[in-house]
Amino acid sequence: MSPQLTLALSKGRIFDETLPLLAAAGIEVGEDVETSRKLILPTNRPDLRVVLVRATDVPTYVQQGGADLGVAGRDVLLEHAAASDAIALVQPLDLQIARCRMSVAVRADFDYARAVRQGSRLRVATKYTHTARQHFADKGVHVDLIKLYGSMELAPLTGLADAIVDLVSTGSTLKANHLVEVEKVMDISSRLVVNPASLKLKREPIRRLIDAFAATIARREGAPS
Ligand code: ATP
Ligand code: MG
Repeated sequence: MSPQLTLALSKGRIFDETLPLLAAAGIEVGEDVETSRKLILPTNRPDLRVVLVRATDVPTYVQQGGADLGVAGRDVLLEHAAASDAIALVQPLDLQIARCRMSVAVRADFDYARAVRQGSRLRVATKYTHTARQHFADKGVHVDLIKLYGSMELAPLTGLADAIVDLVSTGSTLKANHLVEVEKVMDISSRLVVNPASLKLKREPIRRLIDAFAATIARREGAPS
């Protein structure tokens, strides 16, 4: 039998959008995550199991070998890489799932372009301090970064910050909070990440999984979405 593989996923978008990729590779997850409280989910393949972790913990699990593979957003991977001095994770594949963008947003009544033109110092609230720092440094904008762990939209509304850097997909959350998107920082999608030692020791089953995912992604790209 092939060696046991552990795949780390986070509940929500990433889990939901990874399931069809697994299914296309003939892998069924044997538990309904919405109703189950289990954190270790068996699959129909005795050599593969899924573990459920927080989105921001996926890189740590894979880096430390708690999981052989994982799926994590580019947002999370960039922050993790900037914060960690350990060897980089192997990122063999952009899965093209959980797509959105990282953007700068401000209150509708805040003139961002003018503030930038005038060289004002901006207070920016975000979960993504490393990526945001790099973005504003590249633009030559002076910022004071305020690290938050959630509900970023609240920061400009309460006067905590002039701007936020957050993920946007439809823009409806921003709109509901009277915020406007003024600048895209980068496009975001989720990637497969692999522990470097696992890639050596469990090369064949990992290779097969990567190839199956890649085939599905290529098929999707060929088909109109
Ligand atoms: P939690 O919701 O448990 O606090 P989280 O916000 O990090 O954690 P998710 O909201 O499930 O977790 O997001 C996980 C990943 O999905 C993000 O890291 C990002 O890559 C992607 N994502 C987040 N928000 C969006 C969005 N609005 N549209 C598309 N993808 C998104
Ligand atoms: Mg969330």
